[in-house]
Amino acid sequence: MEAKQFGLNDIVEMKKQHPCGKNEWKIIRMGADVRIKCEGCQHSVMIPRREFEKKMKKVLKFANEA
Ligand SMILES: [Zn+2]
Repeated sequence: MEAKQFGLNDIVEMKKQHPCGKNEWKIIRMGADVRIKCEGCQHSVMIPRREFEKKMKKVLKFANEA
């Protein structure tokens, strides 16, 4: 299985949408834990990286793309 590629400032979609109805999250911190911020309500959560990789569905927009 291929490892998921993601990086700082990427916009990602999670397997479960946020209660606010939006399912777009921006990666605002990378490390042993990943911090993501909901693009709908600006709520941010910190998730252990391994858990994040399991819960993340796909990258919607790579930050390093024009
Ligand atoms: Zn939200």
